Amino acid sequence: MLNIEDSLNRLKKSKFRASFHLKKQDIDYINSKGFETIRTHCFDFISQRLAPETILNDGKQTPTHGHPVFPAQHACACCCRGCLSKWHKIKPNRKLTIEQINDIVNLLMAWILNEYNNFNANPKIQKEKTNKKSAQLNFNFID
Ligand SMILES: [Zn+2]
Repeated sequence: MLNIEDSLNRLKKSKFRASFHLKKQDIDYINSKGFETIRTHCFDFISQRLAPETILNDGKQTPTHGHPVFPAQHACACCCRGCLSKWHKIKPNRKLTIEQINDIVNLLMAWILNEYNNFNANPKIQKEKTNKKSAQLNFNFID
């Protein structure tokens, strides 16, 4: 049984793992789909890409963006069987059990929820990003 709080605290100490964040497009996607749908997608990704006994492209099966679950997988070291083994002591080359899949999904959803709440608690960051973009557009226009 994987301890979510303990895992999230350990992952925060890794500069690489802590460098992943949800972006505005992920937040918009979550708002349009709802958390239950994101959880369903998450379960499907883990079941299809991480759970099999043998994975031919292990280490390369998880993109870094394109769905909120992808950055979550990298941030939580649930991106491939190599990382699962190193960080969560889940042995490779054997099929994940339903309990392990649910543990991973719960960890990923906890990370996503934290990111979602942080993002919404800091509207200033969003505003700065928007301003930067419009400043760039103005510059291009003058140019
Ligand atoms: Zn990995």
